Amino acid sequence: MKIAVIGAMNEEIIPLLELFGKEFKRHYLGGNIFYEIAYKDIQIFVAYSKIGKVHAAMTASILIVHFGCQKVLFSGVAGALSEDLEVGDLLLASKLCQHDVDISAFGHPLGFIPESSLYIQSDCRLNDLAKEIAKKRGIVLKEGIIASGDQFIHSLEKKQFIMQKFNAMCVEMEGASVGVVCHNFGIPFCVFRSISDKADGSANVNFDEFLESSAKISAEFVRDMIDAMI
Ligand code: SAH
Repeated sequence: MKIAVIGAMNEEIIPLLELFGKEFKRHYLGGNIFYEIAYKDIQIFVAYSKIGKVHAAMTASILIVHFGCQKVLFSGVAGALSEDLEVGDLLLASKLCQHDVDISAFGHPLGFIPESSLYIQSDCRLNDLAKEIAKKRGIVLKEGIIASGDQFIHSLEKKQFIMQKFNAMCVEMEGASVGVVCHNFGIPFCVFRSISDKADGSANVNFDEFLESSAKISAEFVRDMIDAMI
């Protein structure tokens, strides 16, 4: 089995590389580095895509089409929209949307692209497994809609707009694009995000402070996930 794990930033994959062992083969492709790791009986391909939906979509496509990955997990940090989320909380995406897509001039709902869908559903089986692991280990894993867009959200106004329009619990910049790619290739995927900030006026300061610790929380859960998948 080949499993892909994507982060957006180096800080998000460093803990993954540490958790999966020190030995990896590096592949250089499309301006990116893909780390191939022999882990137990399987191959894991880890990559950080660089920030944003374009980079993440490209990385996911390469992992699936070039490296033949059969499942894709995303691990990283996000800004909280819901008041129920605190820094360090871990969230599983039930479904994802692109909050910055707008062709409403033609009567389409915000976030909708013809021949695609407003929300992309993550894989039920992977999500069920995640919830089972969380329950067994006493880890609080929240579940909800994730909104992705090519913007770092750091204002109450924008935050409330995204929350209300898309009913999203948190905001980030890659998940939905990975979801779209996986959906189109028929590859099961799931997205884990640990909260680094509250997408408000202090988001940039909080992000820098909590990036490392929150990225680690998500990475550790992904390790548990992979252990349970094999
Ligand atoms: N500090 C970085 C930029 C980080 S952008 C630099 O200077 O290069 C934020 C990253 O974390 C994105 O990958 C996004 O997915 C996630 N993220 C965390 N908080 C976010 C927020 N409030 N809005 C949007 N994305 C957020």
